[in-house]
Amino acid sequence: MKKLLFTPGPLTTSRTVKEAALEDMGSRDEAFISTIRFIRDELLQLGHVSKETGYETVIMQGSGTFGVESVISSAVGANDHLLILCNGAYGERIVKMAVVHRLQHEVLRFEEDTITDPAAVQQYLAAHPHITHVACIHSETTTGLFNPIQEIGTICAASGKTFIVDAMSSFGGVDINIPACHIQFLVSSSNKCIEGIPGFAFIIAQRDALEKTKGQARSLSLDLYEQWHGLEASGQFRFTPPTLSMMAFRQALMELREEGGIPAREKRYRTNKSVLDSGMAALGFKQYLRPEIQGHIITSFLYPDDPGFHFETFYRSLSDRNFVIYPGKLSKTNAFRIGNIGQIFPEDVKALVQAIGEIMQTEKAIS
Ligand SMILES: *Cc1c(COP(=O)(O)O)cnc(C)c1O
Repeated sequence: MKKLLFTPGPLTTSRTVKEAALEDMGSRDEAFISTIRFIRDELLQLGHVSKETGYETVIMQGSGTFGVESVISSAVGANDHLLILCNGAYGERIVKMAVVHRLQHEVLRFEEDTITDPAAVQQYLAAHPHITHVACIHSETTTGLFNPIQEIGTICAASGKTFIVDAMSSFGGVDINIPACHIQFLVSSSNKCIEGIPGFAFIIAQRDALEKTKGQARSLSLDLYEQWHGLEASGQFRFTPPTLSMMAFRQALMELREEGGIPAREKRYRTNKSVLDSGMAALGFKQYLRPEIQGHIITSFLYPDDPGFHFETFYRSLSDRNFVIYPGKLSKTNAFRIGNIGQIFPEDVKALVQAIGEIMQTEKAIS
């Protein structure tokens, strides 16, 4: 029996998405070139933008981090100053990128169990007018909270800052209106809420901001401008493209359409989340975050008080029953995570909760 992944990615995908990756595909074949075109256009639509309104999609080989690093290392010029808003491991990852690429940067940190406070961002920007770029995580997968990107984007726009958003684990599962959030660079990847297989990241960028990145990259392969320029000039990639992953992604985009687009997918994920919440609460599990700031993508559950609880045993027992959950990533608290995204339906979540209940019963009996 197939395993169901209750993780933040890679996710459970449909059989038809995987089947779309079965045929070998030449990178210069017309069928592939038109697939690139379809994917780039469809992603713009999902973000409520278009070429006509001044936006572009750039596809970058690699995992999601490669896409974020491409933007961070290309968009922040030698005289620019990046402010990184941090309340979890993914924000800290951007800090590491800034260090590696020796960017002028500053970090505004918030506790892991609180959202990024727009008023604090506004104050910080007012006190540090040299800041040119602001980077923020939308769905902080470390905990599962949603940062208020629309409020932060509005503040950035008012003072002319370039706004970079890592929407890796939310784009496709949350309706994000890129212009309304004043985002210049949004990054996500093939294997999150669009429900494709791993292989690439994508960047939806405002063309003006993208054009300014010319000549600024600190890396050849992650050069955002040259990657875009290559796609525009020849319709092709500079280096070997993730052909099969893109064929699968094309199918995933069509299945997203069939499901009813992002609003329908968001609704399914929200239903998954509410089934999970009520089921886990009934088993006595407590969540790490206050419900007001918790998103519907992934949830952090605290280890039960029971001294007989061992995460590794718990994980293995669930995996033996074909349910794959995720360890925690909190800096100070023991927790595990359960994702609601991917080809996961409310009945799957019910089955997971039932399995967790059974495992807790037998573990109690043993300890
Ligand atoms: C998944 C994820 C990433 C990218 O991780 P990769 O392992 O490089 O694909 C980046 N940011 C967030 C918020 C994520 O959830």
